[in-house]
Amino acid sequence: MRRRCPECGQEAEILACERVHTYEAYFVGLFDTAKAVWVCSACKEEVELPDALPAGEADAERKHKELAAAERARAAKRQQLAEKAEAMKQKVEDELAALKAKLGRPK
Ligand SMILES: [Zn+2]
Repeated sequence: MRRRCPECGQEAEILACERVHTYEAYFVGLFDTAKAVWVCSACKEEVELPDALPAGEADAERKHKELAAAERARAAKRQQLAEKAEAMKQKVEDELAALKAKLGRPK
């Protein structure tokens, strides 16, 4: 959706993005959090939610398509993250098992 960017002052496409943090804690587990952020296509700065920005020449049909596309992208990203988290979890478990074996302690 087009909004005037508070960072660079240009009217630009404001894109929905997800900033993902992966927390990794040995022997505790790991978890992901995803934070929805909006990024200006002109200056690449994160900006406030577009609702808080003055409207540009947004047209409802295109906005709807953009939201649908963003939702598909988020679904794909979530899937990717779930697979990645599973792989990392497995790695941590393997390393923990290896460490236990090295210490000669029974599991
Ligand atoms: Zn900008």
